[in-house]
Amino acid sequence: MDKAKRKAVIAGNWKMNKTPKEATALLNAITPLVKDADCEVIACVPYVDLAAAIEATAGTNVKIGAENCHWAESGAFTGEISTGMLKEIGVEYVVLGHSERRQYFGETDETVNKRTKAALAAGLKPIVCVGELLWERECDITEEVIARQIKLDLWDVSEEELKNVVIAYEPVWAIGTGKTATADQAEEVCAFIRAQLAKLYNQAAADAVTIQYGGSMNDGNADELLSKTDVDGGLIGGASLVAEKFAAIVAAASK
Ligand code: PEP
Repeated sequence: MDKAKRKAVIAGNWKMNKTPKEATALLNAITPLVKDADCEVIACVPYVDLAAAIEATAGTNVKIGAENCHWAESGAFTGEISTGMLKEIGVEYVVLGHSERRQYFGETDETVNKRTKAALAAGLKPIVCVGELLWERECDITEEVIARQIKLDLWDVSEEELKNVVIAYEPVWAIGTGKTATADQAEEVCAFIRAQLAKLYNQAAADAVTIQYGGSMNDGNADELLSKTDVDGGLIGGASLVAEKFAAIVAAASK
């Protein structure tokens, strides 16, 4: 399948930024700037901002995502949020396995897999993040790391469910560091991810999956990154907090 047939997806990952009032103000600035986008536009926001974000984007083309979810439907999991809670308020996407969750909060491929399956079962669309550490790249095991993450994170996810999964390739050394992978490095790993998906499922299923690049993507480098055959979109941290920068990335993905 050629790239033009895949859905380009630009998602902001706000991380632990913006109060509900600030979220409304930022989304009110973003929505008019991206109203003609020819790609999926998503803002993934902190839990307490979700209701305000859904209200601020009602009737617009901007979709709202959460930054995590638990795999259990309910129960004794203090501090966690279930897929049902997210669905009920109108959340459509959820970021899972972000490197900051893996690095600081003990997230493993096993828990990413449990969350992914729960999200899909609830009708949420997971954005599953994979990526190598700098040290792993230097030791030349990037492909090994990515192959393992893809296999484990998507374990027991059916071909039908895969249609609702977005994969984000985020080299950990490029996140929030200002160091972007070159467009060729991003393409190399995104193409490798697609090849792994073809092995685990089949070529047609792999060709249909949206694969994003994430890691210091901004209004200056988005054009080149998004021009690559297997880079179908972006997961954007820092630049998603500035309406004009985020809108410029959306415009680059809409070309
Ligand atoms: C991210 O948080 O997923 C990310 C890619 O951050 P940044 O764009 O700031 O590197």
